[in-house]
Amino acid sequence: MRLQVLGTAAGGGVPQWNCACPGCSGARAHPGRRRRHASLAVQQDDGCYVVNATPDIAEQIEACAWLRPGPGPRESPLKGVILTDAELDHTIGLLRLREADELEVRCTPVVRQALSSFADILRPYVRIAWADADLIPISAKRPRYADSPEAPDWVSALRLMGGAVVYAPAMGVWPEALDEAECVIIDGTFWDDEEPRRTGISAKTATQMGHLPIEATMERLSRLPGRRLYTHLNNTNPLVDPAAEQHKVLAELGIEVAADGMVIDL
Ligand SMILES: [Zn+2]
Repeated sequence: MRLQVLGTAAGGGVPQWNCACPGCSGARAHPGRRRRHASLAVQQDDGCYVVNATPDIAEQIEACAWLRPGPGPRESPLKGVILTDAELDHTIGLLRLREADELEVRCTPVVRQALSSFADILRPYVRIAWADADLIPISAKRPRYADSPEAPDWVSALRLMGGAVVYAPAMGVWPEALDEAECVIIDGTFWDDEEPRRTGISAKTATQMGHLPIEATMERLSRLPGRRLYTHLNNTNPLVDPAAEQHKVLAELGIEVAADGMVIDL
């Protein structure tokens, strides 16, 4: 199995098109600080998948050598996508994949139901095969656009390699699956709980938005034995500045901040 990080930003990316906050302005001034929407490329025995279909998906496929098409003119190694939730930043890329003949979409039943409008739009273009994945439901937080009822499986953590790797870019609670994994890549959207309110992006705290802040998870994360990474950084997160003190705090705990393009060796 191969893993490559395709993006590490929360919704909007870094920079976000309508934002001039310090994080976004810094990324405009220093292109090396740009981060695409959080995503992961996975090569398994049964084919290649992208975890979450972001607005950047076409560029993310191009950026990963083993996801590029060939050798035939219309042969793509990409078999499908795995969705950890139904948020637009994790699903809108499905529409960009409409050139495929066939696409497998692996997700929980409630996420599939939420995406019925996308499925209707895509039907004349691409055959979609819905399937399950090793998804551990962790949150009942549904996307704002969804009018479906409350369900426990709106947000999931993805287990790969029988649970050796866990990918959880949105974490309202700590999934127990993390404690048994050798490599975990988890929610680093916000540094502290007040960050969304302090920066004026929301009236809610990070936790109320369905994201445990790094301050609430880093110590427990540091006690896990294997490789530990944060991803899904919001543009308000101080970690989007490579000079931020917070990088030292994590380094001392043995925790990494995922970077776009990073190859995860297993
Ligand atoms: Zn910003």
